Amino acid sequence: MKVNEIDLEKFLKSVLPEPELYEVLITAQNISEKRGEFLYFAGGVVRDYFLKTLYKRKVPKIKDLDLVLQGNLENFLKEFLKKVKGESLFKSQFLTYKVKLDLNGKEFLIDFITARKEIYEDVAKLPKVFPSDFRDDILRRDFTINALLIGLSFPYKGILIDLVNGMEDLKEGLIRPLHIYSFIDDPTRIFRGIRYKVRLNFEFSKEFFLALERCFEKSALKKLSGTRLANELKLYLNKEPEKNLEKLLKTTFNLNIFEKAGIKTEKNFFDSIVRHLKELKEELNNKEKEKFFLLSLVSPESLQNACRLGFSEPEIEKIKKHLEIIKELLEKWKKLSLWEKIKVFERIPVPYLLALSVYFPRIRKDVVNFLKKYRKIKPELTGDELIKLGVNEGKEIGRLLELLRKEKIEGKVKTKEDEKNFIAQFLLNKSKN
Ligand code: ATP
Repeated sequence: MKVNEIDLEKFLKSVLPEPELYEVLITAQNISEKRGEFLYFAGGVVRDYFLKTLYKRKVPKIKDLDLVLQGNLENFLKEFLKKVKGESLFKSQFLTYKVKLDLNGKEFLIDFITARKEIYEDVAKLPKVFPSDFRDDILRRDFTINALLIGLSFPYKGILIDLVNGMEDLKEGLIRPLHIYSFIDDPTRIFRGIRYKVRLNFEFSKEFFLALERCFEKSALKKLSGTRLANELKLYLNKEPEKNLEKLLKTTFNLNIFEKAGIKTEKNFFDSIVRHLKELKEELNNKEKEKFFLLSLVSPESLQNACRLGFSEPEIEKIKKHLEIIKELLEKWKKLSLWEKIKVFERIPVPYLLALSVYFPRIRKDVVNFLKKYRKIKPELTGDELIKLGVNEGKEIGRLLELLRKEKIEGKVKTKEDEKNFIAQFLLNKSKN
């Protein structure tokens, strides 16, 4: 075990995103010392602190803070929440609590974690968790660079503890699992490792590849549940900088992870996926983005695989139907009118439509235009106004609004005045017939 004294005050002031948190942490420190329980930082906060201070690396400002207690967290928090303004939001199955602090009106979340030991009884299944000491808590972690600890209270106040040579790997820029069975226990660590490699521009150590081989031998990635697999891939999208996405996907592909996880994917789709996400950022909500992203990772020939990423059987059947429709139209695509294309697109949910345009680049431009422009075009006249203009109540209203929309999309009708004239003409023709 390597130990080193650090300047605790400097560490705290450097890592705490809000200055008011300093007092809160001193309170936590006092309570843990009074109770004789060891409180410490571990994981990303410690890793990023040293990357920033020792290696002058740019690291993102921390958004969440993890604090670990070797002791009885429930009782600790009861005392803590009497002294600071805040509330415990929920307790997870893994002996952790999310606490929402009120810092003079500003909200801040801290994850309080019980120092724990994890026992993996089954390949790729969630572990059994037991309260334990800081040593076990460090040795359950994913990579050496995430296994550094800085003590906030007695007996290791202001001490950096490095049980696994994490500082050396930080210096060398290496992603090294703690042991070569690590990915059999928890294959989600592979995706975490890829994120760290790309984010920090690090390399994989030889143990990473050995652990990967062991994981492949045991088919552990295939045993990982679809929900957990999809969640890890969604983090590529939601947690990492946008500019890293293509690299993340390519690294995952080159390591053969998709295939080993039961997903046949196509490397030449990646560029198109990334372009869509960039180009259509404003047009999509987060759910749509995630669905499109996951679906387009599955090759169209093996859509059945989409169930590995959380798509249900009925959903997959629907997607297949839409895919067949587009496939059939593909040959005469250029001959279709704008309106005909729009009528096809409108029937397809947005995430599926985008995935289809990744599969079939011929429709790509039309899909983008549809989402960015045409689907938003609507007549200015309302149903009530049509009635006032003399249109019969009932089905005709809907039909005329649709007709107006078509005229507008095709550029034949532009202003509200044009719309009124169009309706007047329509009514005139009708009265003549
Ligand atoms: P970042 O948020 O910057 O990606 P982090 O280290 O804060 O990094 P979290 O996902 O918040 O990442 O996890 C906190 C810590 O918990 C990690 O640093 C790691 O030590 C540990 N950890 C998280 N997930 C796992 C896992 N699947 N297996 C082992 N340890 C894990």
